[in-house]
This record gives sequence, structure tokens and C-alpha cells, in this order.
Amino acid sequence: MPSESPSKSITMDANSIIYVDGKDAYYIDTPWNSTDMPELMAWLDVRGLTLKKTVFTHFHEDQTGGLDYLLDNKFNTFSSNKTNQLLIKQGKSAANNEFTGVNFEFLKDKIEVYYPGPGHSPDNLVVWLPKENILVGGCLLRANEVNSIGWIGDADTEKWALSVQKVQEKFPNVKLVIPGHGEMGENSSIITHTMEVVNGFNANK
Ligand SMILES: [Zn+2]
Repeated sequence: MPSESPSKSITMDANSIIYVDGKDAYYIDTPWNSTDMPELMAWLDVRGLTLKKTVFTHFHEDQTGGLDYLLDNKFNTFSSNKTNQLLIKQGKSAANNEFTGVNFEFLKDKIEVYYPGPGHSPDNLVVWLPKENILVGGCLLRANEVNSIGWIGDADTEKWALSVQKVQEKFPNVKLVIPGHGEMGENSSIITHTMEVVNGFNANK
């Protein structure tokens, strides 16, 4: 991250993000199992950081694994109404806050959530960090080194490319994209790559 930036983000295992703003910390997804959460909380503790809230980019376990832990420990968690419904349908706990609509300001001027439409899952969100021009793409976006569409059990492969296109149009100045899994990619390379992967999949269906 640029050192002159007033706030910084750190990429952790499996591409969940801890956004640090002064002494406050925000999780964007938790790939961890509940059993791994104490270690993560200790990581914040050592640095004198306080977890303010967590947002989940879709309902699958790879991003919501820490939700139960956060609920048990009375932290503020946020999901879209769609994500919460999908969690409940699976018999899982829902986040204790929810939002509706296409845009949601998770942290004023610093963390914005956007729902572009279905793709990898019906509820996949992306998260925009406007100070850093970083896009957290979640599982909507496929890393540059991955040429397959991945698990599509909950996917809408027809609408996926359109959703990605909306992301591209909304964030034209992106400097870095962090996909749900795999390596980060500069500029919008991951966005165009994902469109190619999805269009290729549909063409060969
Ligand atoms: Zn997923």
C-alpha cells in the first residue's frame, strides 16, 4: 500500500481484508473458521487495534467462516439483505445488521459496498476503497492466473459478465483488484480477465 496513505489495508490469507483506519479495524470478509478467529483478534490486539465492524461479500463459507464467532462475541456484522436470506436458508446465522439496495457506505468516504447483480452467487458484492483506488472483488472476480470459472453451484453464468461490466464502468480508476482467491491484479486486468473467463465458459457450454 502507498505509505503516504492515511489509512492502509492489509491482505490476509485467502484474500480477506483488514482495513485499518487509525486505531480502528474493519474486516472485509472472514475466511477463517470460527476456531481461527481468536488468533486473528490477537493480531489486532497486539497492534492496539479495535474491531469496529465486519462486512461479508457473499454468503459462502469461504467468506463468512468467522461470522458465528463475531456474533457470539457481540461484534457488529453487516450483510446485504440477500446474503442474510441465503444464510438463513442454509440454516446458518445471519449478520446482526443488514442493508438493502445497490450501494452501501460501510465507512464514510473510505469503504463503499456495491452490488452489481448476480455472478458467482446471487448476492456477490464488491467493496471499493476510494482513498486507495482498490477494489475488493470477492468471488465475483477471478484471479488472472485462474482460467476456469470455478464452482458454479450458486452461480448465474448468464448474468455474470454483465455484473462484471457494471463493476468496470463504476470504478474506471481502479489501481488494484483483490479477487476472492488468488493473486491481486494491477489496474482492471482482473476485471477484463473475469469477463473473458465467463464469456469463454458460456461460449463452450
Ligand atoms: Zn463463493
